[in-house]
Amino acid sequence: MEMLAFDQARKLILDSVKPLDQIKLPLLDALNMIVSEPVTAVLDLPSFDNSAMDGYAVRSAECVDAGEKPVSATIMAGDRADREFPEGTVVKIMTGAPIPLGFDAVVPFEEVVYEDADKVILPAAVKQGQHIRFSGEDIRSGDCIAPAGRIIRPAEIGVLAASGILSVKVRRRVRVAILSTGDELVEPCESIPEGKIINSNSPAIAAAVLEAGGEPVMLGIAADTRDSLATKIAAGFQHDMLVTTAGVSAGERDLVREMLAEAGVRPLFWKIDLKPGGPTAFGLKGDKPVFSLPGNPVSSLFTFEELVRPALLRMMGHTAVLRPHFKGVLEEDVAKKAGKATLFRVKVRKDGDVFRLSSAGNQQTGMQRTLLLADAVCLLPSETTLLKKGELIDFHFLHDSSLMMTVES
Ligand code: AMP
Ligand code: MG
Repeated sequence: MEMLAFDQARKLILDSVKPLDQIKLPLLDALNMIVSEPVTAVLDLPSFDNSAMDGYAVRSAECVDAGEKPVSATIMAGDRADREFPEGTVVKIMTGAPIPLGFDAVVPFEEVVYEDADKVILPAAVKQGQHIRFSGEDIRSGDCIAPAGRIIRPAEIGVLAASGILSVKVRRRVRVAILSTGDELVEPCESIPEGKIINSNSPAIAAAVLEAGGEPVMLGIAADTRDSLATKIAAGFQHDMLVTTAGVSAGERDLVREMLAEAGVRPLFWKIDLKPGGPTAFGLKGDKPVFSLPGNPVSSLFTFEELVRPALLRMMGHTAVLRPHFKGVLEEDVAKKAGKATLFRVKVRKDGDVFRLSSAGNQQTGMQRTLLLADAVCLLPSETTLLKKGELIDFHFLHDSSLMMTVES
């Protein structure tokens, strides 16, 4: 199996995963999830004719000329209006209150010529229907209010709730088993034994899973032994997706690929043209995706971002699975080796309508500080060796907040 180009790798992954089954959830639990069955309104909205203004409900035919009219009642929002009101009278009415039968217009307080407690003088021209919100004019019972594929935003939650709908069918969250591998790893502890390091990939990947709307399942640490890996890998298959980190390069104890193959994972690729992130493997156990990310924290987070996240979003029914891409002006020359597509980590500054990109710091794979400083990333093509200051290049933000902060600053 040869080294795969980055975009081919991502395409292969996206072609290999399908949306999961659906689940019925209470409205609020479905926030940011994808509708799997169209939702139809079961009520007209508004559900009765009501006043759009505070003012007086009138019979427009009685208002051809301006003249004094007695006020026969007051109707508040929440009141009923299903009774008779004497001819020639008007009814004081508040926003949202039902329009009484036979009344067909509202004159807002602002337009009233004169009023006291029991009579008003109204302007002459009152248009039939004015300032009335008619039953069903917004949404009709039977209308589709959330088609399949739509993301549930606060707007959908509000409209569904207004229609009396309590739950919605959505693509369920992907349960992602996360397994860190390596004899050098320990879980956070008070004194770190010599030669060991804290497992930081598991929490970082779990956070990225959560951020994408998935459900992380922590499998902990597997030692670099066949037994330990076999047991943990088997546990990983209980979930929708398995993501391992480390043990996939050329080291003596890099057993992950071999153990995945023994466990029945069909490999689709095991090396991509990407830096950081070259030794990334992907395979399928039945139809469950299995990602083996490199151990280096920078590599694992970037390969998650670029390869796993889109797959996870697709499995949850999203159609837009890539972050939006923008163009930015490079603020410095950037040199790179030919023959490796490179994720160049940048800081972004917004200068009027122009995004300006500068290096976020040392681009070596081991440098976690650069992760902290990076707002965005640019994929520099494999064959490129030099990008010149002033060039316009493609980038995407690494987090929704990064774009917002750039726009604010
Ligand atoms: P490997 O892919 O096993 O060669 O690991 C590459 C580098 O990443 C090594 O320096 C490892 O110690 C480090 N590393 C591997 N797994 C983790 C982890 N879960 N958390 C933090 N660093 C790790
Ligand atoms: Mg290792």
